[in-house]
Amino acid sequence: MPRASRLGTSPGQPRSWLEGRRFHLSDDCLVWPFAINAFGYGILKAGTRTLVASRVMCAMAHGQPPTPDHEAAHSCGNPQCVNPKHIRWATAKENHADKIGHGTNGAGEKSNFAKLRAGAMLAIRESDEPSAELARRFDVTTRTVRHIRGGRTWNPEHALTLDAKSAHRAKVREINRGTRLT
Ligand SMILES: [Zn+2]
Repeated sequence: MPRASRLGTSPGQPRSWLEGRRFHLSDDCLVWPFAINAFGYGILKAGTRTLVASRVMCAMAHGQPPTPDHEAAHSCGNPQCVNPKHIRWATAKENHADKIGHGTNGAGEKSNFAKLRAGAMLAIRESDEPSAELARRFDVTTRTVRHIRGGRTWNPEHALTLDAKSAHRAKVREINRGTRLT
C-alpha cells in the first residue's frame, strides 16, 4: 500500500474530489476528507499555495466571489464542510453575523485570538505572505494577523488590565465632573 499523505497521494486528487461533488444534492454536511488547517477548515495544495477547500468549492459551484474580500460563508457553521448548498459568498460582516448565530464566534478580535491555536499563531509569525492572504486562510481579520505579527496576542489577563484601566478612567472622569464614586 503506498504511503499516503493527508493531502492525497496524487496532486490534484483533492481538487477532483471537489469537482465531482459540485452538484452535490444531499442536505447533510459534506465533510472534507483531506487535510485541514488549525481552525478545522479543509485545505488543498495548488502548487506552492494552500487553498481553503470551502472557498474552492464555492467558486466551483457558485462562480468567482463578487470581490476578493468575499468569504465562503457556511450556513451550517461546520468549517470542514464543503457541501455547495451550505456555502455561499458573503461579506466579512455577513459571515461574522453567521458565526455569532452559530456560536462559533464571539465579538471581534478577542474571539479571533481565542480561536487561534498556538500552531496557527506560529505559522502566521513565520509566514511572509500578505496579511490579507493569511487572514483569509485562518479566517481572522487582517488586524488580528498584524497584531500577531507584531507579537501581540490575546490573553485574559490583558483583558482584565484593559477593564481595570477603563474603570480607572471612568472614575477620573466622574471625579473631574465633581461627582465622586464610592
Ligand atoms: Zn455543512
